Amino acid sequence: MQTLKYLTAYPEPLRAQVSQLIGQNKLGDVLLQRYPEAHGIRTDKALYAYVQELKDTYLRQADPVSKVAYDSKIQVIQHALGLHTAISRVQGSRLKAKHEIRIGAVFRDAPLPFLRMIAVHELAHLKEKEHDKAFYKLCCWMEPAYHQLEFDLRLYLTWLDLSGERLWAA
Ligand SMILES: [Zn+2]
Repeated sequence: MQTLKYLTAYPEPLRAQVSQLIGQNKLGDVLLQRYPEAHGIRTDKALYAYVQELKDTYLRQADPVSKVAYDSKIQVIQHALGLHTAISRVQGSRLKAKHEIRIGAVFRDAPLPFLRMIAVHELAHLKEKEHDKAFYKLCCWMEPAYHQLEFDLRLYLTWLDLSGERLWAA
């Protein structure tokens, strides 16, 4: 059986099912059936607008996000699907953080639910720094299918690793 490095946190029976799909050469078809089309959010400007709208809906009170961009330098491994940086600076008498969100370029050619999942993840870091219970609770509040989407995204990363082919090319 393959190691399935993106799926090590999931139970063995689930990984066995994935291995079977791979063995039958069906993984790509399963993903395409579930997510037939790519989103059209291609530019950093459009990405910023998309993320800002999510923030306005769910985290209006949180610190502002000054920049959102696709980043081709982000290596898609483990927790580096996106990056959230906060630069603290003193403004008057208060310490203010300047937040920037970078999203792995793999999400540019992907279905909207995957982009939504990573956007929700990075926005949740405005409130919760660690990947702990409170963090995932916030993610699931913004996107109830968060865990399913993360699993499906990891299926896609597995597919990319094995085939080298994007399923949703522009
Ligand atoms: Zn994170």
